[in-house]
Amino acid sequence: MDINNSIAAAGKKLTFSEVVEYNEKYYFNLFARAPICFERGEGTVLYGMDGKRYLDFLGGLAVNALGHNNPAITGAIKSQAEKFIHCTNLYYIEPQARLAKTLVDISCADRVFICNSGAEANEAAIKLAKIFHYKAGRHAKNKIVTATDSFHGRTLAMVAATGQVKYQKPYAPLLPGFSHVPLNDVGALRSAVSEEETCAIMLEVIQGESGVNIAEPAFIEAAAELCEKTGALLIFDEVQTGLGRTGKLFGYQHYGVEPDIFTLAKALGAGFPIGAMLAKERVAAAFEPGDHGSTFGGNPLACEVGNASLGLILGEKLHERAAEKGAMLMGALRAAAGDSADGIVSEVRGRGLMIAAQFKKPVAVEVKGRMQDAGCLVGSVGDSIMRMLPPLTVSDDEIKEAAVIFGAAVKAL
Ligand SMILES: *Cc1c(COP(=O)(O)O)cnc(C)c1O
Repeated sequence: MDINNSIAAAGKKLTFSEVVEYNEKYYFNLFARAPICFERGEGTVLYGMDGKRYLDFLGGLAVNALGHNNPAITGAIKSQAEKFIHCTNLYYIEPQARLAKTLVDISCADRVFICNSGAEANEAAIKLAKIFHYKAGRHAKNKIVTATDSFHGRTLAMVAATGQVKYQKPYAPLLPGFSHVPLNDVGALRSAVSEEETCAIMLEVIQGESGVNIAEPAFIEAAAELCEKTGALLIFDEVQTGLGRTGKLFGYQHYGVEPDIFTLAKALGAGFPIGAMLAKERVAAAFEPGDHGSTFGGNPLACEVGNASLGLILGEKLHERAAEKGAMLMGALRAAAGDSADGIVSEVRGRGLMIAAQFKKPVAVEVKGRMQDAGCLVGSVGDSIMRMLPPLTVSDDEIKEAAVIFGAAVKAL
């Protein structure tokens, strides 16, 4: 194509059917997309190019914790962009220093490293765990234990960490050293961990991607005890559970257990890409100049958005709000499901605003589709789990509306 035509075409807004056509033709075929293209959002609501209104109870997969077009986030982006947006980590970065202090003040960690995504934060966590033992001369302590059905991201190391064969098979040989035990199987965990070889145990306290599977206190306590006994490090992947989603600021606070290392991402930028790896000083001290790094990670723009997002979560106590609204939403979903003719919903489970409905039959995709048609976006996991991750700012009326739409979708089966 002629370059001048290309330049002119690149600036011209597409129609919905052109978006679909271009996507099919030019974009990698990696996503099973719903036939919707959004144009803008406001709080919990998204509007399609055709003007149709949707309640966003998927929340960008737990990313849009503060809703869409939140003035605090938009304001932080604008004001920082007008100063400067990038600065190499070879210089001090004021918004980064401020973000690090706040994260340390509110958590069990002593130090912070900022990166660009959840997978990157988990990579940093594994590298830190390895170098911690390496620098102490424990070179054989390089094995990581994670859970079956976990999800830790899409990089090659995180594919090995993730306990799901479907994400691993095509990418063999995987990075060695990862083994998996079923969530809540204390016996299997005990057999998998050894003093000679285990570098770390890495867990989600609630598995999100595989359908809101909650770790039992006994399992988390056993992991902490094993780490204490063998010198392995306890890593929590709080990419999804972190910063209020579960009704507490951090998922580990439900258990009275403090990890040596934990990671954050999704809610931290409220939609802007940012990740964080945090650790206790004893462990964090293993990282010295040159051991790890990032070109974009910790840039002034991302950090200023992180500061704004944290400011709002802490200022408005959105974690407490998530606990309250989550209880309300789960109650409303149970009531709506209870009315369904054959009781097809076997369970509504979750913590805070991280919620799943389990069906007795493979109807999740159909329920999701019906709810979408009725103007409410939710997720499905496999064929029999529906997932809801609304913004922590969701209103009572929006909760009631979503529950009515869910009830109607279930009844229409
Ligand atoms: C989403 C998610 C990730 C991956 O985050 P990316 O930003 O997509 O790399 C990792 N761990 C958990 C628990 C997640 O939910």
